[in-house]
Amino acid sequence: MTEVKLTLQEADALVMDVLRANGADEANARAVADTVMAAERDVCHSHGIFRIPGYVASLKSGKVNGKANPKIEKIAPGVLQADAERGFAPLALERGRQPLIDLAREQGIAALAIRNMHHFAALWVEVEPIAEAGLAAFAWTAATPMVAPAGGTKPLFGTNPMAFAWPRKDGSSMAFDMATAATARGEIMIMARDGKQAPPGAGIDAEGNPTTDPNAILAGAQLPFGGYKGSAIAMMIELLVGALIGDKLSFEAGEADIKDGGPPPGGELMIAIDPNRFGDPEGWLAHGEKLFAAMKAQEGLRLPGERRHQNRLKTPKDGIVLPKSLYDTVCGLRG
Ligand code: NDP
Repeated sequence: MTEVKLTLQEADALVMDVLRANGADEANARAVADTVMAAERDVCHSHGIFRIPGYVASLKSGKVNGKANPKIEKIAPGVLQADAERGFAPLALERGRQPLIDLAREQGIAALAIRNMHHFAALWVEVEPIAEAGLAAFAWTAATPMVAPAGGTKPLFGTNPMAFAWPRKDGSSMAFDMATAATARGEIMIMARDGKQAPPGAGIDAEGNPTTDPNAILAGAQLPFGGYKGSAIAMMIELLVGALIGDKLSFEAGEADIKDGGPPPGGELMIAIDPNRFGDPEGWLAHGEKLFAAMKAQEGLRLPGERRHQNRLKTPKDGIVLPKSLYDTVCGLRG
């Protein structure tokens, strides 16, 4: 047997047991488990249970505060700031979500800057609920140095993901969420684990030579998507979540991180926009739908997020499948 099948409820109970057994309080364990289980439900394995050993490593090392009690503060008319108290990002994000939505409705646009947190989850989990509340939303975060800037050969940027979500007329959302690295780090780690080759353009080895060997890329540097264009977006994210909000650039996070296998220290910026407060309050929703319909009229095309939404309908009855080695590792963390 190389795989184990679990219901979502069984997997959630396992994740909660493991997090609690390693020092997370109920609120932090619940917020992390919700994020991890959303990834499993949507079949985004690289940010699901695969991450649990990393979360546990940071609880055990003491780098992350499993009992963090994040506070939200308004620091300017349209700006909220959260101090995540050295905790995992999900609880600060959960506590900041409704205040961000409320402030965006009041002001038309609002930002949430989360500082002093540890993040290595997917960002679509964060923007989708805001779009489902009827607002457009952006999220950006940085990481540790893993990506060489275009023209360079040494890791400097994080894989710096960005996500954007837009409300749909049926109450759901369109969300894209992408690393600015050509390939997400978690995917390269999974390729290394499974003995697979990385796609061309994913990275360079420690000498700066292009390679498709995932282990050589992990020892060398990943590359941004789209050459200098993706590199510029990665640079923008460094500025937004480092210089703007007063948290760490990726290379500063790399210096500060104790490298215990868990998420590095850093910050996150979210922006929410209420389309009802812009120029077309009556028409924006139908206008967006017109764009999606025109796109979908082209055969073979799918919208970002559609793969996940289709998976989301299936997993509650089909359950999830984990590699047995991962399942055994996670079970062994229950203490
Ligand atoms: P992908 O390249 O797999 O996908 C990027 C986006 O493109 C997704 O929204 C995806 O939608 C969409 N997409 C993929 N294929 C198509 C297609 N054929 N047509 C239309 N849309 C498509 O993601 P990445 O590998 O770049 O990133 C994976 C995850 O890693 C993200 O969730 C990101 O947040 C996370 N990450 C987190 C970091 C952290 O530090 N916290 C760092 C870096 C990445 P769909 O989901 O429907 O396939």
